Amino acid sequence: MSRPAAEIGRDADVVVVGAGVAGLAAALAARARGARRVSVLESEHVVGGSALGTDGAIAAAGTRRQRARGVVDHPAALVHDHVQRNGGDLDVALVRLLAEAIVPTIDWLGDLGARFHDELGIGDDLVARLHVPVGGAASIVEVLHGRCRDAGVEVSLGRRVERLVVHDGAVAGVADRSEEEAIGAGAVVLAAGGFGHDAELLAAHFPSAAATGEAWYVGAPGSRGDALRLGAHVQAQTVGHDIGLRHLHAGGDRVVEPELPGWVVLVDGDGRRVCDETSTAATLDQVVRRHGDRVWAICSTAQLVASDATVRSHRPLPGATPRPSARWTVDGVETMLRTGRAVRGVTVADLALALDIDAAVLGGTIDRYRADADRRDDRQFGKDPTSLEPLGAGPYVAVELRPSAVSLTTHGLRVDQAAQVLDAASRPIDGLFAAGECVGGVLGGHVGRGLPLAAALVFGRTAGESAAARSLRRLRQP
Ligand SMILES: Cc1cc2nc3c(=O)[nH]c(=O)nc-3n(C[C@H](O)[C@H](O)[C@H](O)COP(=O)(O)OP(=O)(O)OC[C@H]3O[C@@H](n4cnc5c(N)ncnc54)[C@H](O)[C@@H]3O)c2cc1C
Repeated sequence: MSRPAAEIGRDADVVVVGAGVAGLAAALAARARGARRVSVLESEHVVGGSALGTDGAIAAAGTRRQRARGVVDHPAALVHDHVQRNGGDLDVALVRLLAEAIVPTIDWLGDLGARFHDELGIGDDLVARLHVPVGGAASIVEVLHGRCRDAGVEVSLGRRVERLVVHDGAVAGVADRSEEEAIGAGAVVLAAGGFGHDAELLAAHFPSAAATGEAWYVGAPGSRGDALRLGAHVQAQTVGHDIGLRHLHAGGDRVVEPELPGWVVLVDGDGRRVCDETSTAATLDQVVRRHGDRVWAICSTAQLVASDATVRSHRPLPGATPRPSARWTVDGVETMLRTGRAVRGVTVADLALALDIDAAVLGGTIDRYRADADRRDDRQFGKDPTSLEPLGAGPYVAVELRPSAVSLTTHGLRVDQAAQVLDAASRPIDGLFAAGECVGGVLGGHVGRGLPLAAALVFGRTAGESAAARSLRRLRQP
């Protein structure tokens, strides 16, 4: 049921904006906390948002599943690892909540019917704490959506929310642009995802992604930053400038292969090697940021010919199978040579000339790498010896990589520990809660694998419970 905004009443106890993982978790939690009428409005014609088609790895430390595998871990260790990597970009109280609450949330998912692989994955941390659902994140979406249906949550597709309705100083509903169709609610949860598809917001809040000039977003089509716009109507505070997750990309295609083959040598514009080439996507993003956001992956054509043309993760997730590579093959590199994203040289000196790099510097880099590979000991960056391949004889190719594929934006609304949105003066905005990728201060700029989904689930549940409690209190008010 809906009505003009001017006549706002109560059509639902809780309205949730967005049917991604965060929104579906919020709706279920609101029902469980006693909200009778819970509505989820989804702008697209499908539920699941950015999680669809992804592996769905969820980071959690200190779980029953870890103990069963003999893994010693603790929520405090996850907090430590995440805070060490991200420093000032985080609200530590929220990170603590995330680390504590994801432990029972993994069990909650199991109780709802989600199935996980027994083995655990390793992501950015040394410890095995990635919980991987059988069937990927789509299976989690299916479970959450199914339980929403069972619980009588109304999920409406093709309903884009474009206004918050404010009544007596509190958020009291949502409306479309015309405000002809408003839905009155006891509380509203924003779970509308990130803003990667909006070029203006990307330039404003994630300029280092926009500045590559070829940024493209890998997440759900609905990631247009609507939560930021809706929040701005009520002076919501935002947090986290120029952070998120960018993947190295060779341009020209729409392929995301987050890891590099172990047999390439990654150098900057001065011809110096920049890192362990088998680093995680989040680490590669941070490294290239320090090197002008432009690096070259060098290998010999013999290595390309010898490669079996599959993408093999350096940290394979349970259940994952190697996929054909669209880039690191003879044909893939030929395409890049044609489009000017790669250069070829018979010798390393030729390559240096083609790249306009000092030949002595690049030669020295390659000689040092060869010497390390010969003794199976990467003395510069400690790459695993199994990935330390000597380059062999020329010809060589250098593929230009830029961090232009964006899979996550982490600038977002500031919330408190009840997932209530804060205004510019850090006061809670009555009736407004938020969860998932549209929330800032939780994921930072060095996004550990598995944390985005953990955050979507934990803050989704928190926001749903808080919204239901607020809605019930409002019912009791005279
Ligand atoms: C390729 C890829 C791989 C990933 N792999 C992992 C992984 O392995 N582990 C991990 O932890 N994270 C991973 N992530 C990140 C993770 O999937 C997302 O951060 C998470 O799914 C976000 O969930 P969400 O519910 O907050 O937002 P979303 O999934 O973006 O959902 C928001 C929903 O709101 C809808 N919406 C937007 N605006 C409106 C509006 N105005 N009105 C109504 N509806 C609206 C959108 O259409 C969307 O359905 C990956 C992301 C990508 C792109």
